Amino acid sequence: MNGICEKDMIEFLSGGRDDLLFSLADEKRRSVFGDEVYLRGIIEFSNVCNKDCQYCGLRSSNRGVKRYRMNPDAIVRAADLVAGEGLGTIVLQSGDDFSYSAEEIGKIVERIKLRHDVAVTLSLGDRSLDDYAHWRDCGADRCLLKVETGHVKLYERLRCGQSFKERLHRLEGLKRLGYEVGSGIIVGLPDMNVMDLLRDLLLLEQLDLDMIAVGPFVPTPDTPLANARQGDLELSLRVSALMRLLCPEANIPATSALDAVSHGARLQALKKGCNVVMPSFTPDQFKAAYAIYPGKNVSSIPVQVKLRALRQSLSDMGLVPSSSKGFSPRRQYVEQGTARRPAGDYACGTA
Ligand code: SAH
Ligand code: SF4
Repeated sequence: MNGICEKDMIEFLSGGRDDLLFSLADEKRRSVFGDEVYLRGIIEFSNVCNKDCQYCGLRSSNRGVKRYRMNPDAIVRAADLVAGEGLGTIVLQSGDDFSYSAEEIGKIVERIKLRHDVAVTLSLGDRSLDDYAHWRDCGADRCLLKVETGHVKLYERLRCGQSFKERLHRLEGLKRLGYEVGSGIIVGLPDMNVMDLLRDLLLLEQLDLDMIAVGPFVPTPDTPLANARQGDLELSLRVSALMRLLCPEANIPATSALDAVSHGARLQALKKGCNVVMPSFTPDQFKAAYAIYPGKNVSSIPVQVKLRALRQSLSDMGLVPSSSKGFSPRRQYVEQGTARRPAGDYACGTA
């Protein structure tokens, strides 16, 4: 563990020392990434999903969603826009939509990589490792697959019988394929307590990830959890700050779920350990239908205007919006064979 003991983690999670936690996380982020914030353009190309996760607005049994699928040309055009705006990473995300064949997705990745010098991240859910191997061959660089919670029974209940073990197995397989791998959790799912979060933090640390995404649970209409309590914003920020201390070199996005529970929280998170923002480049006619939770993609302001405002806000905060691909520094050490994992300078008991 990175120099921080469980007792202190519980104290931090309980909100006993927020000022100290957030300043330690901010310092740690700065020591690894300087003032740079990586921008990734996300294209949510299909809201069709064959899963029925109880927390998600795109669940297959939600008949209230107008479903869409973007065709390959439209996806590549959206990618052109991301690259044209000077962003170094394109994230392709969708529901678990198996109607796109592995070959079709592979061709889209190849076309994007041929046209632009960008990194491509896939967030396509539980596709087979054979599919992921093919996409790696086509040039995909990274994958994002959240464990959502390390509480096996809760995972399997909320994801309607999906196997937690299989999710972990898939993550390990993605690493073996040479991807940069990201995972993460939703904070504040029903029946989740502080000890669950402690276990999740340790699990994510142990997985030795390149990216870690943490966001609060947002109750969504027309789902079984519509009336459940919303995840606590501060608690979610504490979890990502602790992740920064445990995994200094991981890329940690300030997730859009933060803004869905409190407008402006995403920017605040960049001063509390996070170092990545992922503006949505989903075309206007589709983005409102990518309704994973309320408050996602609600703004009707054109993406170019939003991006300009985002860059300005980052500069105002003393941060530098970066157009680099933003590979995980951890990965660079692994590739150089030096596998540096810096020792934490936080000693147990100093909290
Ligand atoms: N289908 C893919 C990717 C799209 S879902 C997958 O499930 O992996 C992207 C992420 O949205 C999920 O990993 C989950 O963490 C998040 N999400 C879904 N519903 C949510 C909710 N109600 N509140 C907060 N995050 C949610
Ligand atoms: Fe589908 Fe992902 Fe939503 Fe689950 S979280 S219903 S897999 S889009």
